[in-house]
Amino acid sequence: MTKILYGKPVAEAVKEGLKSRIADLNDKGLQPGLAVLLVGEDPASCVYVRNKSRACEELGIFSETIRLPRDTEQSRLNAKIDELNADPRFHGILVQMPLPKGLSEREVVRRILPEKDVDGFHPFNVGSMVQGIPTFLPCTPAGIMKMMEYYDIRPAGKHVVIVGRSNIVGKPMANLLCQKSPRANATVTLCHTATENLQAHTLQADILIAAAGMPGMIREEMVREGVIVIDVGVNRIPDPTAKNGTRLCGDVDFDRVSCKAAAITPVPGGVGLMTIAMLMQNTVEAAENCLK
Ligand code: NDP
Repeated sequence: MTKILYGKPVAEAVKEGLKSRIADLNDKGLQPGLAVLLVGEDPASCVYVRNKSRACEELGIFSETIRLPRDTEQSRLNAKIDELNADPRFHGILVQMPLPKGLSEREVVRRILPEKDVDGFHPFNVGSMVQGIPTFLPCTPAGIMKMMEYYDIRPAGKHVVIVGRSNIVGKPMANLLCQKSPRANATVTLCHTATENLQAHTLQADILIAAAGMPGMIREEMVREGVIVIDVGVNRIPDPTAKNGTRLCGDVDFDRVSCKAAAITPVPGGVGLMTIAMLMQNTVEAAENCLK
């Protein structure tokens, strides 16, 4: 019987654990604060930003969404980040990606102070993560580690195959999983578009993490019986039976692959919920760090 790994109970447990930490901060006269910068009006980004501010509201984290027009110049964006870096109300700053064409994500990521970088994308924090030094971890990979812990999935000694090597999912995921620690200690293979014979690799996976952004690309014949599948992909595809004519799906052909898998995350309802929960956790941690 395939186990469905829902994100909701894990995300709820994370958020429940944050409540007392937030209450402690409040007792000390501090309310954690998150600034979310949204440039342009990409519909998916607007939804993500709304969900993030809702999660803040639910937990009593102060949050403000700063909206800039899509034709914002880099210098103006940088100035806004500098302003937020200096604003003591905000312990965390998040710039919603992707940015409109012409703006440099690399510049933005470096501009945010490492101590307010609750996305965990600043090279300083990435370096710490690679060296196993406690730091803000990128939210999606950190959320997946948390999910594995919750569902007692132990990657130690297992072969984990990751499809996708982005700086926000694939690469940090590989780094976290290969750390020399009891909750990691996996043997990791990282696949991408230059990987030859992808299927030969995915077939070797004890745990398969799909983060390519290609709807349904992981098919039944690409996995072996008993595999654990973590589907990170969030893709919108046409669906004439849906109210608005589209629906969300992952990178995995869920219906077929779930017949072979021992456990699998759904899309929606899986990893996505964890990303926001870990953002809340990083924001609370950033506020706590101010008192150290
Ligand atoms: P990117 O587009 O930045 O990276 C995609 C990666 O997948 C690249 O490394 C690319 O390889 C690789 N890839 C793409 N197609 C193939 C293929 N056919 N075979 C092998 N490798 C392939 O995406 P992100 O990492 O930002 O996101 C990946 C997916 O996860 C998206 O669907 C995104 O929406 C979703 N996502 C979900 C989150 C959540 O909270 N659930 C959070 C973040 C992302 P190469 O490097 O060679 O181009």
